[in-house]
Amino acid sequence: MPLSFEQGPIRPPSEAFSLLLRLTRNCPWNRCLFCPVYKGQKYSRRSLEEIKQDIYAIAAGMEAVQNLSQKQGFSSITREIVVQCGESAPALYPLALWLYRGAGAVFLQDGDNLSLPTALLGEVLLLLRQKIPGISRITTYARSRSLASKTVHELVQLKQAGLSRIHVGLESGCNSILNFMKKGVTREQHLEAGHKVKEAGISLSEYVLLGLGGREHWRTHALETAAVLNEIRPDFIRLRTLALHPASPLYQMWAQGQFDAPDDETILLEEKLLLENLEATGSTIVSDHFNNLLEDVGGSLPGDRPAMIARIEQYLALPPLRRELFRLGRRAGLFRTLDDLDNPVLEERVVRLYRRLEDRGLTVDAFVRQAMSGSL
Ligand code: SF4
Repeated sequence: MPLSFEQGPIRPPSEAFSLLLRLTRNCPWNRCLFCPVYKGQKYSRRSLEEIKQDIYAIAAGMEAVQNLSQKQGFSSITREIVVQCGESAPALYPLALWLYRGAGAVFLQDGDNLSLPTALLGEVLLLLRQKIPGISRITTYARSRSLASKTVHELVQLKQAGLSRIHVGLESGCNSILNFMKKGVTREQHLEAGHKVKEAGISLSEYVLLGLGGREHWRTHALETAAVLNEIRPDFIRLRTLALHPASPLYQMWAQGQFDAPDDETILLEEKLLLENLEATGSTIVSDHFNNLLEDVGGSLPGDRPAMIARIEQYLALPPLRRELFRLGRRAGLFRTLDDLDNPVLEERVVRLYRRLEDRGLTVDAFVRQAMSGSL
């Protein structure tokens, strides 16, 4: 029995501890201007047989890790077992790590598994839960267009088979921005998809891409995105900040002056306007990504909204040099939150970096752009 199984390139930060199982390769759309992830890669569906083989391999691999652990007298999977697998049995490493962390969640890759026939997806979910007992959550990415093409009944079937959460790239609620960015989805399809997922009782995460309206349309982007989210009321609204990656078509457009990318402060004004207009009671805001300047803007709506807005205002009220230092420290990975500005050790390191950039004639903006371009 082979013990290796296929995994794709990305997963949401909230699935960092999930076991990754690939059902499709790459993205069936692959045209969004801002997205570099699968550019140049061909989309394909893995056959049911291939996926089943991977599930059997995972089950066999888990048994092998558990046997290894028992032979060494451990009652559970320990860090030592994870290290041993990493050194001498790489195929078992992701499973050892998953077991070590509690073996709760599984994330199905790649970009849009709801483009698969419902019956196939249902069979995969059932087999997964049958062969790997104890799974607490199974989640996947999906495009709104694929979700809108399913009936609520189909989504209920998938929920009953074990699908617990769907991550959707909303990006924007504004049709002209969605159209310009070649998202291939309209505001109306986002609404239809969101309503169906909620009606089926599946947990829904919607991803908003701050900055996508450029410097010209940030207000419209914020207001129309808030309006769509207010109608859908997803369980999670996950904020992301636009990063211009050299492999994305938008980077080339920006380099040729066809897209005016907003700076950090414009993006924060946009984020504030979005929060001020969000009425999605019960939704939780999450900023869990390196490319968000203020990672700790988060909480439940409506109760935590004043604190989230206050955090943004706190940054905007800083003197210009403190704002620059924070931007630099954050993108250099030295700061996580504004409170780190008050840590003299960290501040000293950031000031040293600031001076080094000055000596080399580099601006903070240039450093930030470079750091962001690799921040997927
Ligand atoms: S953003 Fe999503 S839908 Fe668009 S190309 Fe990337 S993976 Fe595909």
